[in-house]
Amino acid sequence: MSVIILDTTLRDGEQTPGVSLSVEQKLLIAEALDKLGVDIIEAGTAISSEGEFKAIKAISEAGLKAEICSFARIKFEDIDSAADANADSIFMVAPSSDIHIASKFPGKTREDIIEMSVQAIEYAKERGLIVEFGGEDASRADFNFILELYRHGVDAGADRLTFTDTVGVFTPERAFETMSNLKKEFKLPVAFHGHDDFGLATSNTVFAVKGGADEIHVAMNGLGERAGNAALEEVIMALEFLYGKKTKINKEMIYPTSQLVERLTRVKVPPNKAVVGENAFRHESGIHTSALLKDTKTYEPISPEIIGRRRSLVLGKHAGRAGVEAIMREMGYKATPEQMKEILKRIKDIGDKGKRVTDADVRTIVETVLQIKKERRVELLDLSIVSGANIMPTASVKLRIGNDQVVEAGVGLGPVDAAINAIRKAIKNYTDVELVSYHVDAITGGTDALVDVIVQLKKGDKIVTARGARTDIIMASVEAFIEGLNMLIS
Ligand code: MN
Repeated sequence: MSVIILDTTLRDGEQTPGVSLSVEQKLLIAEALDKLGVDIIEAGTAISSEGEFKAIKAISEAGLKAEICSFARIKFEDIDSAADANADSIFMVAPSSDIHIASKFPGKTREDIIEMSVQAIEYAKERGLIVEFGGEDASRADFNFILELYRHGVDAGADRLTFTDTVGVFTPERAFETMSNLKKEFKLPVAFHGHDDFGLATSNTVFAVKGGADEIHVAMNGLGERAGNAALEEVIMALEFLYGKKTKINKEMIYPTSQLVERLTRVKVPPNKAVVGENAFRHESGIHTSALLKDTKTYEPISPEIIGRRRSLVLGKHAGRAGVEAIMREMGYKATPEQMKEILKRIKDIGDKGKRVTDADVRTIVETVLQIKKERRVELLDLSIVSGANIMPTASVKLRIGNDQVVEAGVGLGPVDAAINAIRKAIKNYTDVELVSYHVDAITGGTDALVDVIVQLKKGDKIVTARGARTDIIMASVEAFIEGLNMLIS
């Protein structure tokens, strides 16, 4: 039997402070969650706004495999809007702790709450909905009242029961015990909904499953109110790899889904976050990297490919030849000793500036160096740029062209433009070259990132593509341009 996964990224997750998704964004995430293989998508709260209603309706009508669920209170209007939005099911909660009863339904007694719940469940069944029923703040409620409330819920027609740890105060021991007790009492599927206020959401959820929970509520990247819900990626990986439990999750979709949710919610995943954090499969050079390259199991509990991502290697400023060569081998590059010297020099240059060198940086540097021709007709001897707020950017260059030395100056709309114009003027008497395209990328974030420039140059009907990579955008551009020149006029 596999554990039923209810994903609440689009409901509790969207209640994360600062998160607000459009109908289109919610639909995109729902489609990704469906591919990920979650059993139930809690898509939002239909009653809460017109946008929510539209989103749930769109998701319900998108032909997804998953059951589409709307959150609801024990109110007829909530049930009506979930049903009108064509949701398959509702996750309906009744306040169950005295503090929640007093603040949500002032003046009502526990008996009143039972009565209202029974009516709401009966009404929801009349409207054709699957009813997952739970006590809100159950972990702080009188457990005897929870049992009483759930018994009436079952009699009224509830299809599943949920125990909610609304404010994240449960412990693994209590999660285990509570789920065991609920399983003894009820024949229906029982679910656990946990929050991470004490950092125990994953542990509590795993122990709920050990205690007999048939279903668990999780959210991608641990999104959710306050400290968030139990993180889907952590719970799934722990259940499957550490506890031998089965789920229907397509694990290789975990990382792509995490990235999509990060992008659309704009809630950045912390770099040290388990499973999906940027550093989770990233290794700094040194003893770790060399052992790792011999056998990845030395410092990785699982292969990154399992969750659809790749290992990343980072070289510090003390990167040695062996480490760089090992990374190049992994990438399938071979260099001559001379090229190797240049590659190491460039990597060290970045490291010396206090910047970390990622494997993406190494790839760019290696590709740039490998393209450099030995026989160079054109070589940059000197370059200086003047640019500022009130002057036209101006560049002067000194080039070696064949056996000549040529000095030229040029102006441009920006410093890169000025530098390229100066070079064009310098070579004008030697060859006629046209710049077809110019493309620039920062390899990693930050103003100190390695800048990758790709240019296409044309001479007659010959077109070449050349590349420059430096932390200085002007130098990267000039390097790319001059490499292209050498390719064209060799
Ligand atoms: Mn919650």
